[in-house]
Amino acid sequence: MFERIRTARERLRGHANVTPVMTCRTLDESVGAEVFFKCENLQRAGAFKFRGAFNAISQLTDEQRDRGIITYSSGNHAQAVALVGRLLRVRTTVVMPGNAPKVKRAATEAYGATVIDYDPEKTTREEIANILKTEHGYTIIPPFDHLDIIAGQGTAAFELFEEVKALDMLLVPCGGGGLLSGSAIAAKSIEPTCRVIGIEPELADDATKSFHTKTLHTVKNPPTIADGTRTPSLGELTFPLVLQHVDDMRTVSETAIVEAVQFLFYRMKMVVEPSGALGVAALLSAEVSATGRVGVIISGGNIDGDLMSKILSSGKKRP
Ligand SMILES: *Cc1c(COP(=O)(O)O)cnc(C)c1O
Repeated sequence: MFERIRTARERLRGHANVTPVMTCRTLDESVGAEVFFKCENLQRAGAFKFRGAFNAISQLTDEQRDRGIITYSSGNHAQAVALVGRLLRVRTTVVMPGNAPKVKRAATEAYGATVIDYDPEKTTREEIANILKTEHGYTIIPPFDHLDIIAGQGTAAFELFEEVKALDMLLVPCGGGGLLSGSAIAAKSIEPTCRVIGIEPELADDATKSFHTKTLHTVKNPPTIADGTRTPSLGELTFPLVLQHVDDMRTVSETAIVEAVQFLFYRMKMVVEPSGALGVAALLSAEVSATGRVGVIISGGNIDGDLMSKILSSGKKRP
């Protein structure tokens, strides 16, 4: 699998941004470690999802490209697939719940994708995507449970190790586990002693429970502010990969997530969405006790102006 990540890295060259790695002395002093942030909020389309989407879609045959692709997501994966579809001239359809945030729908349409509404009360997005796949011969590009997606997502950690060399610990946000599996495989292949820890919101702790009990847990529509991690469970591929390669899973409170977004904005001048701030939340709340050299994947920066201004004006204003 590491070979797949290495190949993905070559495929992404010149297409994905090699995102910057940032540091922050204030944070280092307060947590007593040396922290390196891999800034995927500065990736194309605003999240690491571009990596997996490009890696998967660029490998389709001419015939598959001619027929078009379909995906289901209301968030960053939809935008990434739509952008890659435009770049590679592949017709793209995205199935989104009718109540998806208007900005995300607008961004997806702006990249040229056709958005199809569905009623989440009546059917599932997978069902709709499967019907359209059968009707039109589309290829489904799933958000995380696909080896090319997982390999693409693993390239962010790969680049981080290339740039900063040895790390003692790597903190990775977890939703469906695509980013976490890919990151863990990259980390363990490059630096077997690096501890890889997945971070989830307390309110969406399905993967943490699944990890500790070794049976798949599901959580339905978790009301967390970290919308990138609201997926109901790990996948058929990501669950065993997480069990095999990840050292631990931890959860953070909604308050800790909000404080992390504030910290990233006020101290580091970075616009990071709540899901992207999970690693920082784990450090600031001491949910993870950091030592030595710690890598943190900042997974995305797509946040509504309204939500950002609400977060910035809530609680204690400057951490
Ligand atoms: C998709 C996403 C996640 C979760 O990634 P998975 O591969 O589903 O675990 C975390 N943060 C952001 C910003 C995302 O877009």
